[in-house]
Amino acid sequence: MILHFIQGTANDQVQAVRDRLEGEGIRTLLSTETARPIVGVIDKVADGLMAELKADPRIESFHACRGDKRMVERAFREKPMTVKVGNVEIGPGKVVVMAGPCSVEGREIMMDAARLAKDAGAHVLRGGAYKPRTSPYSFQGFGVEGLDQLKSAGEHFNMPVVTEIMDASHLPAFVDHGIDMLQIGARNMQNFTMLKAIAGAGIPILLKRALSGTVDEWLYSAEYLSAFGCPQVVLCERGIRTYEPATRNTLDLTVLPLLREWTHLPIIVDPAHAVGVARYIRPLAAASVAAGADGLIVESHPRPEEARSDKDQALLPNELAAIIADARVQAAVNGRQFHA
Ligand code: PEP
Ligand code: MN
Repeated sequence: MILHFIQGTANDQVQAVRDRLEGEGIRTLLSTETARPIVGVIDKVADGLMAELKADPRIESFHACRGDKRMVERAFREKPMTVKVGNVEIGPGKVVVMAGPCSVEGREIMMDAARLAKDAGAHVLRGGAYKPRTSPYSFQGFGVEGLDQLKSAGEHFNMPVVTEIMDASHLPAFVDHGIDMLQIGARNMQNFTMLKAIAGAGIPILLKRALSGTVDEWLYSAEYLSAFGCPQVVLCERGIRTYEPATRNTLDLTVLPLLREWTHLPIIVDPAHAVGVARYIRPLAAASVAAGADGLIVESHPRPEEARSDKDQALLPNELAAIIADARVQAAVNGRQFHA
C-alpha cells in the first residue's frame, strides 16, 4: 500500500504516521523528490490500524500495489522519474538515443564508432567490455581495457557511457573508470546477488528485460535495485523469446502503455537485439518512439561486417542517422522533444 499525504503536510507529521506504523512492526519507505509526501507501507496493516489511517486527516489517498513492489510502483512518485546519465536526462518529455558497437574492439575503432554515433545525433555511447556470449569460444570482450577505451571515447566526444556489468567483483573498475550507467543484461536480470551488490554504487542502471522475463519479474528486479540503493533505473525492452524463430526475438511493444500505468520508471527500447537484423531495425525504432518510449538503444559500427559480436544487427552510420531522424519526427508527433 502507498499513502499520499495532503500536499504540504509537514515532515514531522508524516514521521508521526511512520512511527505509529513502525511501532507495530510495519516497515515503511519515504518517497523522495516529490512535493507531496508519499509513504510506501511494506507489511500488511491489521484492520484496526487501517481504520485509524483511514480516519487520519493528513492522509489524502490510499493506493494498492502489485504484489510486494513499492518503490517502482507508479503511485510511489507524483511524476514519472527522470534519470540523469552524465548530462543526459532520460524521462518524460524527451527522447534519447544510445548507440555504439556491441563490443568495445580497440582504441581506434572505438573512437571512430563514437564519432559516428555523435555525428548521427546519439546522446549516450554504448559498448560492451564484458560480453555475455552464448559460446565460450566467441569473443568475450576486453574487460578493464575495454572500459578504458569506451570511457576515453565518451570523454573525447562529450558523451556519457553505458556498459554491461556481469560480475559484482568488477564494480570497482567500473567506478574507477567513471562509467556513467551500468547495464544489467537480459541474462542477468534476475541475478539478485549482483543486483544487490551493485545498487549501492550511486551509478544509474539500465535494466534489460530477461529473455523470458515477465513484466512482473522485471519490475521486481527494478524493485531490488531501488530497495538496495539505486532508484535511478531505466527499463529496457529488448525482445523476448517466443515460439517464433524467424527473428532473433519478438519485440514486445505492448509493455510501453502498460508500464506507464504500472511504474514511474523511464523505459527505452532496444529493437536491435529483438529483431537481430540491421535492415529491420528502422521501422521498429520509429514504432517504439511513436508508442511512447523514452528512447532507443541500438548498435552501430563503422564497418559492421567486421564487428566481433552481433554484426548482423550493427547499423551503418547512414542507417543510424536515418533512425535518429525518424526519432526526431516521432518525438515531435507525440509532443516531446528530441534531447538536445
Ligand atoms: C548487448 O547489449 O550487447 C546485450 C548483450 O544485450 P542483451 O543483454 O539484451 O542480450
Ligand atoms: Mn549486442
